[in-house]
Amino acid sequence: MKPVHCAAVDLGASSGRVIVGKWAGRGLALTEVHRFPNQFRPLAGHEYWDLPYIWSEVRAGLAKARREFPGLASIGVDSWAVDHVLVGRNGRPVFPVHAYRDTRTTSPSERLGRSGIDRVYALTGIPNYPYNTSLQLQETLRACPRMADVAARCLFISDYLNFLLSGRMVNELSICSHSQLIDVRGRGWSQGALEFFGIPPRLFGRPALSPQRLGPVAGIPELKGVVSLLVPGHDTACAFAAMPAAEDGSDLYLSSGTWSLLGLESERPLLGADALANRISNERMGDGRYRPLKSCLGLWLLERTLPAFSSRPRTASAWRRLISDAARGPAPDTLLDVADSALFNPPSMRAAIDAQLGRRGARAPRHLTGYVRLICDSLGRGHGNAVRAFERLAGRAFRRVLIVGGGSQNRLLCQATADAAGLPVASFSLEGSAVGNIAAQLIALGEVPDMDTFRAMLSRRLKSVDFSPR
Ligand code: ADP
Repeated sequence: MKPVHCAAVDLGASSGRVIVGKWAGRGLALTEVHRFPNQFRPLAGHEYWDLPYIWSEVRAGLAKARREFPGLASIGVDSWAVDHVLVGRNGRPVFPVHAYRDTRTTSPSERLGRSGIDRVYALTGIPNYPYNTSLQLQETLRACPRMADVAARCLFISDYLNFLLSGRMVNELSICSHSQLIDVRGRGWSQGALEFFGIPPRLFGRPALSPQRLGPVAGIPELKGVVSLLVPGHDTACAFAAMPAAEDGSDLYLSSGTWSLLGLESERPLLGADALANRISNERMGDGRYRPLKSCLGLWLLERTLPAFSSRPRTASAWRRLISDAARGPAPDTLLDVADSALFNPPSMRAAIDAQLGRRGARAPRHLTGYVRLICDSLGRGHGNAVRAFERLAGRAFRRVLIVGGGSQNRLLCQATADAAGLPVASFSLEGSAVGNIAAQLIALGEVPDMDTFRAMLSRRLKSVDFSPR
């Protein structure tokens, strides 16, 4: 069989990558052709994404992919969620792109928490996060009411990159579903939620299911002949799609990176007061099914603590050494409250951690290894609590937790998760989002019949590292 090559553009909040998957009927071989750091930057008290920079890196990465794989068939884009680009009728951005960690929505989110969230949750199945698109758009329109006339469309980050590639403005369902504006009982926008936040419905198109074809890449000579495909736009939806999960639905999934995203696939949403109290977010798969998940502050804690120390691990062996040293140290007596909003985006993460420990009468670690241990054990406990919440809400027991993402390589975190959850953990060294993105492209191209077939192949070929609860 002639191999097929698909490029996944996978944009994370801290790095972006272009990964080419080669499929020859049985296995998938990945080549990372381009990786670039990504970060938001402050300007006059707000935080913004540098969109021209992101696009220039994506374009350079795709050109490189084409040079290395001249037969490149297609491109799919996934990205972090909630952030968006307001564009005019011609597709030109008309408002700066705020980053989700901007504090402009802190007070509105607190207000929503005091009044209204019960109604909004019943309508959308999405709990109150300050970064939700709903609150961001509400703030934009209050600060700048003319935007309601100036902006023609609201495109999420992956939607916008798809527009740059294909010229089509499409709102993909999985990335729309995190906005807190999609009807939890259907697949369209929630009129009630749009009204509640004062957002004009005409900013959005009908949410599109994926995968499907968008069209040929237009206006980029080095990508002539390549097809732009709509894949699940939200990186978590892609990561969940790629899970080498048991067919009987007995696995819980953990995508462990900047965030810890723990959840499951389901035919129905998990709603009600207990689900809301546990902040269960009923997001969607590309095909419209639900993926209820709990989102906790993840390895961002560690990422942001590292700059307080003179050296940071830059290679896999340096990571292994750091984690082994941390594993040898004593277990901390007091774990972090990872739900503390003071840890969301502090100027110094180390100082914020020390302050939280101080408030609770605990002593701060003295070395980096102590912080690594503290963070991994604290995240592990958070994962354990989420597992118990899902068991209660879904009314059934789960057999394993599957981990993908950067955290799958952190054995201290995997073990802490197994211990706190009381369940075996299977960690897969897998670029989860890129693999799900490419799998969706293979389905759209007709190379693979469906996601179950792809998963079955992946499960046969991938080896997990297993951790038993102690
Ligand atoms: P995202 O896609 O959200 O940007 P990733 O899935 O790439 O995040 O995960 C990034 C995290 O993975 C880093 O913050 C780091 O803690 C962890 N990580 C990366 N490489 C390793 C490694 N070799 N060993 C252990 N942990 C690692």
